[in-house]
Amino acid sequence: MKIGILSRNGNLYSTRRLVEACEAKGHTVQVIDTLKCYMDITSSSPAVWYHGEKLEGFDAIIPRIGASITHYGLAVIRQFEMMGAYTVTESIALGRSRDKLRSLQLLSRKGIGMPKTGFAHDMDNTKDLINLVGGAPLVIKLTEGTQGKGVVLAETRKAAESVIDAFRELEADILVQEFIKEAGGADVRCFVVGKKVVAAMERVAAEGEFRSNLHRGGTARLTKLTAAERSTALKAAQCMGLNVAGVDLLRSNRGPLVMEVNSSPGLEGIETATKKDIAGMIIEFIELNARPNNTKTRGN
Ligand code: ADP
Ligand code: GLU
Repeated sequence: MKIGILSRNGNLYSTRRLVEACEAKGHTVQVIDTLKCYMDITSSSPAVWYHGEKLEGFDAIIPRIGASITHYGLAVIRQFEMMGAYTVTESIALGRSRDKLRSLQLLSRKGIGMPKTGFAHDMDNTKDLINLVGGAPLVIKLTEGTQGKGVVLAETRKAAESVIDAFRELEADILVQEFIKEAGGADVRCFVVGKKVVAAMERVAAEGEFRSNLHRGGTARLTKLTAAERSTALKAAQCMGLNVAGVDLLRSNRGPLVMEVNSSPGLEGIETATKKDIAGMIIEFIELNARPNNTKTRGN
């Protein structure tokens, strides 16, 4: 097969591993810098151009789109879909999962467990918003944040009010969430490929920190998933329409709660922690499923 990886940087661990896995299985692979793609969207035969040449004959596309280029990346994926190319992450699925408000609304509609959550932008009544999610302690998040930045734990009602008021000044969308204390500063990353959770790790926050992000000094360790955790992770990925996903769960007294579904989950942490060839599993999934026009959406 001829496989294209949409990635801004061929030196990233995840991109390198996917290239290696393609080559190990005898496929031709090209890393395509998403932002360098251009297209004529008025043509009746859609095409993607790159360095003066038409990108043609790809049996599969693997989008690895960074959060900062979601908008343009989506346009490039849609164009490939319109060409009938198979893309392992579809544009609609990526768009859903990148929008925190949309994705949490969809998960909630499907009855998937999640922390009690409220959204706001510029409400007049901060106290009311706090009451809505059951009072302090609570977690306040800027919806545009990544790697745990913009995620604050307010232990008291007073602290919550002042953080929310400060965030309001930024004119940003705010998410307020029940604090899941019993998770003990840990969360679980479930890596989904197709209809299976193929790997999982627990991430534990550094001393004195409640955020378990590896970028915030958290450490990863192996963990055994319960049946409920597996099925929640799978349902969450399917709800987004993602074939490859990193589903982050909190272990609560009332079972697994989904925090987030990542559509370009990194491979380094999970492959290192579990010693599994996840890149190889993604390529095997593509071998089984990549056929022209075999996407649920066609650029719409
Ligand atoms: P980001 O997307 O920036 O990583 P998250 O929403 O995943 O932000 O939050 C970062 C970390 O904070 C999580 O990995 C988790 O350890 C902790 N955390 C987030 N929300 C809650 C919550 N409601 N209860 C307990 N811990 C939480
Ligand atoms: N049905 C709409 C769509 O496919 C929005 C809801 C959803 O994301 O599932 O774009």
